Amino acid sequence: MAKNEKCTKNYHTDTRLVTTGRNPEENDGFVNPPVIHGSTVIFKSTEELYSGKAKYSYGRRGTPTTNALRDALTDLEGAAGTVLVPSGLAACSLALLAACKSGDHVLITDSAYEPTRHFADTVLISMGVEVDYYDPLIGADIGTLFKDNTSAVFTEAPGSQTFEMQDIPAIVKAAHARDILVLLDNTWASPLYFDSMGHGVDMTIQAGTKYIVGHSDVMLGAVSANEKAWPRLEAVHGAMGYHVGPNDVYLALRGLRTMGVRLRQHQESALEIAKWLEARPEVDRVLYPALESDPGHAIWKRDFKGACGLLGVVLKDCTQKQAFAFIDALELFGLGFSWGGFESLITYVDPRSYRTATSWDEPGKLIRLHVGLEDVADLKEDLEKGFAALKI
Ligand SMILES: *Cc1c(COP(=O)(O)O)cnc(C)c1O
Repeated sequence: MAKNEKCTKNYHTDTRLVTTGRNPEENDGFVNPPVIHGSTVIFKSTEELYSGKAKYSYGRRGTPTTNALRDALTDLEGAAGTVLVPSGLAACSLALLAACKSGDHVLITDSAYEPTRHFADTVLISMGVEVDYYDPLIGADIGTLFKDNTSAVFTEAPGSQTFEMQDIPAIVKAAHARDILVLLDNTWASPLYFDSMGHGVDMTIQAGTKYIVGHSDVMLGAVSANEKAWPRLEAVHGAMGYHVGPNDVYLALRGLRTMGVRLRQHQESALEIAKWLEARPEVDRVLYPALESDPGHAIWKRDFKGACGLLGVVLKDCTQKQAFAFIDALELFGLGFSWGGFESLITYVDPRSYRTATSWDEPGKLIRLHVGLEDVADLKEDLEKGFAALKI
């Protein structure tokens, strides 16, 4: 949908999170937009229907509920428009579909979310699209991989399992010189901590399931695009027939209002846990770009405004059994996929199982933590139990 006219004021981010995408005047004064369950829209006349001027035409094409979230995200991203899809993965696949056609070549970072790779290796390949993976640290040298038919570069910064920071401005510069689109899975930083459009990204992806929803109770995705990429994104989204149910959209809108304060707390707690972990004798390396010791820290500091609650921990050399004992000993860190909710989570990660352009050479076992909103002292105590079980 078009740019949000309601929110043209230059408020700071926290204020925009509160004000954007809602208009009490349109809803009898109620603070939040209504949850519209609807497919058919009844028109007053053939004139209203066929003039194309009606605000709403059919549930799949937008309702007051879905448009409120689209407006809000378009505003926060500084984008030309936003579409909603039923999951974060659907956002990754839709953006890729909108950025290439049969015969094109796309470049995907070797650190990309693994199901994104799976989509490329199955669907894109079967469509006759060439897919190559590249070193996430490649920077401006991405230009050496361009072919005459390269249509898009897919980025993710930092990678959600291995946490390499990508030099997005350098990649954008090289790509735009050849009229190649740059896509970014911006779920880790969210629009609050990385300004994708401001850094030249053409399409930016959010797994709304994570921090936008923020409560582990909804799956949702969004893709926002700049003026150049928006017409194609909107057309492909419409052709695919995607629609997200109103209750889920409503919960995402509700989550958005508190995203600023939540993220600040996730960041504060995660940084404290990261520093504490770094000092542990059982830990080889902590992967968290906000840490000064992280190899991506300089880029993070230059380009990002903050960090979320997701980080990686490379344990000193140990067996998988020992790492599993660490995980199984924890109580507050739940063993489960996803992240971005209020609760702490842990998973075991093996990047060797999917990397192709680069190798993952860390000798130690890698675990991933999502630091939730619990008290940090309790989280440390929980991790102590894990270290006691690890027995390195
Ligand atoms: C979780 C995640 C996705 C996919 O989101 P779903 O809603 O689980 O489909 C995409 N990208 C990243 C970086 C993620 O962490």
